[in-house]
Amino acid sequence: MNTTTATRLELRDLVKRYGTQTALDEVSLVAEAGQFVVLLGPSGSGKSTLLRSVAGIERVHGGRILLGDRLVAGDTLHVPPERRELAMVFQDYALWPHLTVADNVAYPLRRKKIARPEAEKRATAMLERVGLGDYATRFPSELSGGEQQRVALGRALVGRPSLLLFDEPLSNLDADLRERMRVEIATLARESGATVVYITHDQSEAFALADQIGVLDHGRLVQYARPETVYLRPANRFVARFTGLAADLAATVARVDGEYVVLDTGERRLRARAVGDLRPGDGTRLLIRPAATRIVAHREAGEDGSLDGSVVDVAYRGRGYDHVVATAGGELTAVFDERPWPRGSEVRVVLTSDGCIAHVMEQV
Ligand code: ADP
Ligand code: MG
Repeated sequence: MNTTTATRLELRDLVKRYGTQTALDEVSLVAEAGQFVVLLGPSGSGKSTLLRSVAGIERVHGGRILLGDRLVAGDTLHVPPERRELAMVFQDYALWPHLTVADNVAYPLRRKKIARPEAEKRATAMLERVGLGDYATRFPSELSGGEQQRVALGRALVGRPSLLLFDEPLSNLDADLRERMRVEIATLARESGATVVYITHDQSEAFALADQIGVLDHGRLVQYARPETVYLRPANRFVARFTGLAADLAATVARVDGEYVVLDTGERRLRARAVGDLRPGDGTRLLIRPAATRIVAHREAGEDGSLDGSVVDVAYRGRGYDHVVATAGGELTAVFDERPWPRGSEVRVVLTSDGCIAHVMEQV
């Protein structure tokens, strides 16, 4: 596939309001050329507003958007979508119902005044790329959801945009198809060479795809970092919760040990990675990632680095079982083991310190 020259995207203090509501609250970020950036946040956090502002579908009220060295939004400037050299894939596909699959894919080329034979040639090649070579003469209504999304992907890629925007492209697909389509998007988008901004409310999708993850909460970008950093050092409790926790328990700092702290949970001492400025005696939250937990048989003597409790729920997950374990300090969920521990079992949950995060107390 012919590749494009990726563009660097920069947002500076972006503000967007709807009436009195602030949908984007001084959002700043840089997507380097060729990076795959995923913006993650719950429904209503401003993800679509951000993407639509980058696309030029929305006018912003403050801040700037730069594509490479080029200012496309800011002050009184607003460059329209068709002059931003980007393409977008939507959750609901947004295909032209009256155009065939081939004509849908050729559409961006025809708009750029590329002659019909050349446009058709490129559209045909792109349909092969997205696995729809035999569907050229069909209409969108004659395709499944997954096939329609592949048409939309082909239409986005065919014009070789330097920036590709995805707005929850997998949300309308069934679970089995979602995983395959995710891989396809990752492969084709990366091969295209474009810079990608992809939004989702699904943390597993975000971690699987991203070079860089941004987390949005009420229109504010609360963290923007590599996936590993978001996982190990979430910026706040909201980010930690939204990216998957087995537990969020109260604890007291007993001792500071470099990047780690030793916590007193009342029952045991536990080591956790410190986020923020923590001192001995401070009240803190102990945030536990599911992957940091391991379930073993209960033994008489208490052991540091573990919590004792009893199994209150067990759920089959295919590869094994997720347990809910009630401990003196609160419940742990998503405690995985390959074999099921029956309800009522007295167990010990062993914790690894890298997946335990001690966070400064904050208002959330
Ligand atoms: P997300 O995509 O993360 O679900 P949106 O960007 O769609 O969030 O919306 C962010 C906030 O802005 C929400 O509170 C939403 O109700 C509001 N909003 C979005 N679009 C409009 C609009 N066209 N008019 C009024 N409010 C809007
Ligand atoms: Mg949305």
